[in-house]
Amino acid sequence: MERFIPDEGRIQSTIDNYKRVRNDVFEAAVKAGRDPKDVRLMCVTKTVEAEYINPVLDLGADLIGENRVQEYMGKKDALHLDGVEKHIIGHLQTNKVKYIVGDVDMIESVDSVKLAKEISKESVKRDVTTNVLVEVNVGKEDSKSGIYIEQLEELLAQISVLEGIRVKGLMTIPPICEDITQVRKYFEQMHRAFVDMGAKGMPNIDMDILSMGMSGDYEAAVLEGSNIVRVGSAIFGARKYF
Ligand SMILES: *Cc1c(COP(=O)(O)O)cnc(C)c1O
Repeated sequence: MERFIPDEGRIQSTIDNYKRVRNDVFEAAVKAGRDPKDVRLMCVTKTVEAEYINPVLDLGADLIGENRVQEYMGKKDALHLDGVEKHIIGHLQTNKVKYIVGDVDMIESVDSVKLAKEISKESVKRDVTTNVLVEVNVGKEDSKSGIYIEQLEELLAQISVLEGIRVKGLMTIPPICEDITQVRKYFEQMHRAFVDMGAKGMPNIDMDILSMGMSGDYEAAVLEGSNIVRVGSAIFGARKYF
């Protein structure tokens, strides 16, 4: 196999993009009257080769998100992951759970009791607790995974009795909207659900993390209370799918 030679120009633009996005997120937090330390920037590394991810990790990026278990497993050994948190953010099949429990720091895409039960089972087997977020399909789109806001309380109640799994908050991908004010309404709806669910004080359920905002809308998400923004293409450039 030929050795992959990374493009120097692309490495430099990735570094520049990362610094710019990091600064934008900081400024959005300040604008929202929030402590910038409360908003984390996740670098979404799906489809990106390790050679472009490591320069950003070397600059201090401390949180990455991967969509596909197989892709993550295939490249994690090439990544500079010391002190870096790893989250799975893509739709997860139950038969893949066993590969990542005990390895990743969080699964952000829990959208069924069936999946939660599998995570619970594998976590108990390995004597670990797996932190998860529940994914909400805030726009009720057929094309997206996640549950509806109306189903949240029921799902949280069902997860709250499982061992080895702890809900830390919510994640969402809003519908693509022409108008950023429309996206903000979805984010606002999510923030309200986040606060409401937190107020219920359910056992084993923490509402600490609200993961929302991507390349096109992370500033709006920070203004609406997000504390993890998941940014891919604005840092690494447009994705080529393989
Ligand atoms: C790909 C992806 C992102 C990042 O999307 P960009 O628009 O490239 O920033 C964020 N969250 C999830 C769940 C994703 O799959």
